[in-house]
Amino acid sequence: MTINPFETAKSQLQQAAETAHLDKDKVEQLKNPDRYVEVAIPLKMDNGSQKIFTGFRSQHNNARGPYKGGIRFHQDVNLDEVRALSFWMSFKNAVVNVPFGGGKGGIIVNPKELSAAELERLSRGYVKKIYPIIGPETDVPAPDVNTTGQIMGWMLDEYQKRSFNSSKATFTGKSLDNGGSQGREEATGFGGVYVFEEVVKSKVVGLAKDASVAIQGFGNVSTFFAQAAEKIGYKIVALSDSKGGIYNPEGLGFEKVLAYKKSSGALKDFPGAKNISNEQLLELPVDVLVPAALENVLTKDNAEKVKAKLIVEMANGPTTPEADIIFAKNGVAVIPDILANSGGVCVSYYEWYQNMKGESWNKEQVLEKLSKQIKLAFADVLEQKNKYNCTFRTAAYVLAAQRIIDKME
Ligand code: NAD
Repeated sequence: MTINPFETAKSQLQQAAETAHLDKDKVEQLKNPDRYVEVAIPLKMDNGSQKIFTGFRSQHNNARGPYKGGIRFHQDVNLDEVRALSFWMSFKNAVVNVPFGGGKGGIIVNPKELSAAELERLSRGYVKKIYPIIGPETDVPAPDVNTTGQIMGWMLDEYQKRSFNSSKATFTGKSLDNGGSQGREEATGFGGVYVFEEVVKSKVVGLAKDASVAIQGFGNVSTFFAQAAEKIGYKIVALSDSKGGIYNPEGLGFEKVLAYKKSSGALKDFPGAKNISNEQLLELPVDVLVPAALENVLTKDNAEKVKAKLIVEMANGPTTPEADIIFAKNGVAVIPDILANSGGVCVSYYEWYQNMKGESWNKEQVLEKLSKQIKLAFADVLEQKNKYNCTFRTAAYVLAAQRIIDKME
């Protein structure tokens, strides 16, 4: 059975609404995006033929500020996924208290099948269709799966030409030489470690200083998370990419793994480690599990087998509602995606702010602001958790929903 992420998102909100007796009418409004559009994008292929691609933009809620969220290029993109991701963006921005609402977009395409010139024409074609509904104070897109700073640059250029608005703040996640922010690359992974440190300090979960950590993924988020966690003394014992993972209970040594992956192109057969599957990684005897790759990897089928005491959700939507119930029953603490991976949206906000004000901050300034903002968000979530004696996820939703509802008033 396929798991519908939009249904998951709505059930997470419903749980919070029942826990904190939130305003029923407002909660019903929040279960539906304000607006979503589907667009047909004609693309002239390099061989002279034409193909029509389907794109979406979902604008969930803007009570707290402009809609904000990435654009995904993937063959599995669909309207429910885009709606769910825009919903999660509203809540993520509210948890971490940045003045944005939630939005998300996508195109049904496998970008690996396009030439660079076709990819540029497709990116510009998408903006041609949605430019009237985006803008620095309306809706601010960013990169997501398979979209990059280069793609944001093409989109921004197309937007500027069509809207006669020269502001760079309509898109974030741009390259540094095109108005991007220092620290954006590290933001999500480092932000996750800032949250992790606060969890440990709060003693909600008892962890040794050198607790063992298994991380699913070897991309932007997971590598910066691994690097920062190892630096403060945690033992990274397992890592994986789409082809499988590696495990050494004594610790892998992140920098060595990075060098090995660079030279061999894979993680497999890393010296001293055992090769494992992605499924095995999730069930290892570790203290902390960090899903940092895909949605729906922790389900009712494997949740009972998870041995970690703490799960830090760096991917969006890695845990299904059924798995959440099992984790709560087994006393496994789950730090939800809308808190754990919110470092990225914080620095996206800093980029937008710098563009709007004509400022340019250095990396130290950015990371210091990020650390403060994430620590405050964790303290706010913990307060709700203690007040309602609920999970971190429900506490984060209560906090975010209340912040959005206050502005809807
Ligand atoms: P990425 O493309 O850089 O890395 C993804 C990693 O997942 C790669 O190592 C890839 O090999 C691995 N992977 C792919 N298929 C896999 C599979 N079947 N099993 C295990 N691993 C697999 O992506 P990223 O930017 O690191 O994003 C990872 C997750 O974090 C996504 O869920 C994304 O939505 C979420 N996220 C990212 C950011 C950000 O700023 N990049 C912010 C918030 C949330």
